[in-house]
Amino acid sequence: MTIREIEAKSILRKYKKIDSWFISRYGMNLYRGCTHNCIYCDGRAEGYYVDGEFGEDVTIKVNAVEILRRELDPKRKRAPFKRSFIMIGGGVGDSYQPIEEKYQLSRRALELVDEYNFPVHVLTKSTLIKKDIDILKKLTKKVERL
Ligand code: SF4
Repeated sequence: MTIREIEAKSILRKYKKIDSWFISRYGMNLYRGCTHNCIYCDGRAEGYYVDGEFGEDVTIKVNAVEILRRELDPKRKRAPFKRSFIMIGGGVGDSYQPIEEKYQLSRRALELVDEYNFPVHVLTKSTLIKKDIDILKKLTKKVERL
């Protein structure tokens, strides 16, 4: 397994229209590549440009949380993001794959999303998400009040 740390230029991706599966307007991949290594994963397709051996190697956006803060902070944006669901995770890397235990990017992203009051959806097949149940409960309560 090869871990590659990179500095990302941006984190949030804005969809052209609200995603019909996850009713999200924005999405983010904190990791590229996924050691869950599902045989059917889209991330294997060349069009997704995942570096290295898919299923073995993972690229970590080590500055993801700093960039995300810049993107979510309405004071730093001429046109702030609209309040809408943000999807954490996607087709090129599970946000709760084992490397999350070391980097904690998903947890720190959830904390920021909570701070800026955005609702969130998380796509994962990992029970590692249970480590963040406290923050997820907090976020769920906020969404229930919307
Ligand atoms: S991104 Fe999802 S589908 Fe792809 S290998 Fe990881 S867990 Fe499996």
